[in-house]
Amino acid sequence: MQNARRDIHSYSNPEQIRVRHLDLDCDVLFDRKILKGTAALSVQRRVDSGAPPLILDTRNLHIEKVEVSEENGAYAETKFTLGASDPILGAPLSITIPPAATKVRIQYSTSPEASALQWLDPPQTAGKKQPFLFTQSQAIHARSWIPLQDTPGVRLTYSAHVRTPKDLLAVMSAGNDPDAPRTGEYKFRQHWPIPSYLIALAVGDLQFRPMGNRTGVYAEPSVVERAAKEFDDTEKMLRAAQELYGPYRWGRSDLLVLPPSFPYGGMENPSLTFATPTILAGDKSLVSLVAHELAHSWSGNLVTNATWSDFWLNEGFTVYVERRILEKVYGRPREEMEAVLGRQDLEREMAKLPERDQILHIDLKGRDPDDGVTLVPYEKGALLLRSLEQTFGREKFDAFLREYFNHFQFQSITTGIFVDYLKKHLLNGNTQIPLDEWLYKPGLPASAPQPVSDVLAKVAEQAKAWTGSKIETNNWSTQEWLHFLKALPPQLSPEKMRELDRAFSFTRTGNAEILEEWLLMAIRNRYEPAYPRLEEFLVSVGRRKYIKPLYEELVKSPEGKARATAIYKKARPGYHPIAVTTVDGILAPKS
Ligand SMILES: [Zn+2]
Repeated sequence: MQNARRDIHSYSNPEQIRVRHLDLDCDVLFDRKILKGTAALSVQRRVDSGAPPLILDTRNLHIEKVEVSEENGAYAETKFTLGASDPILGAPLSITIPPAATKVRIQYSTSPEASALQWLDPPQTAGKKQPFLFTQSQAIHARSWIPLQDTPGVRLTYSAHVRTPKDLLAVMSAGNDPDAPRTGEYKFRQHWPIPSYLIALAVGDLQFRPMGNRTGVYAEPSVVERAAKEFDDTEKMLRAAQELYGPYRWGRSDLLVLPPSFPYGGMENPSLTFATPTILAGDKSLVSLVAHELAHSWSGNLVTNATWSDFWLNEGFTVYVERRILEKVYGRPREEMEAVLGRQDLEREMAKLPERDQILHIDLKGRDPDDGVTLVPYEKGALLLRSLEQTFGREKFDAFLREYFNHFQFQSITTGIFVDYLKKHLLNGNTQIPLDEWLYKPGLPASAPQPVSDVLAKVAEQAKAWTGSKIETNNWSTQEWLHFLKALPPQLSPEKMRELDRAFSFTRTGNAEILEEWLLMAIRNRYEPAYPRLEEFLVSVGRRKYIKPLYEELVKSPEGKARATAIYKKARPGYHPIAVTTVDGILAPKS
């Protein structure tokens, strides 16, 4: 069963003609910051009423020529029109195709402003010698580098032939060959039908380090050893996930560490997770992100949200699964800490969100789906699953989830389809769970689980008692430090801030999560000694999770806003287009 409802973020008409396979052939032209080549689409007509055109999504693509062919036939040129461009959706590409046509080949090039692509000059990389390119297709950015039906309701397989400068390596979300020689010509094949937002490409001075038989890391040479050490529990996590939810379907499971401008923590591109270098803390304390992206191999990549209003089906499930993996690998106390911090962060963010954005099944009419990326689909979604687990017991709920993943594997589903399945296979008439409230109302139901962590409770005690005196923090994990900082009073005097910094060197910490929390406190309390580090962090890191709250905190005062504007002037050229859109919105909101 595919999505029955039309996706409001796509112009495409899959209910009439559906794209089944993409064959991409392109040159990566660093000097012009464009991709140039062809996309050949295999299409299947769904109805025989007339001959509707094939409508594809595009954004800032330069379409040169479109050809069609019948099965095993030769290509012949056909007519196409590119519609007016919408700031959020891009422009529809309407292609005339004869009833018997099964293939459509589009000759095109991208624009240097393509919203999915970030072209890094050598100084923006770790090695400083070679340029770097990476894509971020989620949510609706695939259309800025490939003309296709850019909706998660349509799944397709793909093959690709990518040409790059000779000394660079290209990798894609398609099971890479770790032994591929560096020739400047690379071929890929994704055998499983995936939604367009999981098509991904990166090109750079990349090296590979194996971690297990099917796991390894790609990164720039100066980063790859460190990354392989940090992530060496990946195989263990993968085994834990398989024990819980059934076989891993994607062959290899590698990680790609990107330069710091990557706008997200991680992106679950199949067989090749893209990850931010900000999780390289040196002590594996931030590897929950690896567990999260692995969890997507079931929730998201295998069973996919059919529209962006159903995004919580991807992320809520994934946060729940992520914590089950962490519990299996690192023990229950670790899971409890993550869950407590998760709920805390959710409440903190929800307090600032308008009601419409606190709803799991979010209404995104007229909006960019990237606007819906808050903690709500993640943490509120995970709390709903936690509440199902608590109500029905782990054994029953685990069996339900396993069956859910099997039942809907390689399908894209809506919230409605999930609800029907849940009622039939788990709830069985049970009305203890206020499902409508969870899915369609703002805030949290009164019965929402309140995770507890003994470890963090002790930390909170210490934060309360902290007077500048020594406390025992020797073996504190990142999670304990975060909880400590969050438990301190929101307003602190300059002396208290200085004392904290002297005692624990927060301004100089190499741990991005702790630094983020500290910098927020520094802005709030005008702690000037941290300002140079704040600027350095905002200029060098482009991860939305960090930069968004910092800019938001800065603009609360006129003095902070002036500082934010000055910093952003330096930082903006180094940010990915997705991060630029976010920060532009904070510093110069559209009226
Ligand atoms: Zn995720």
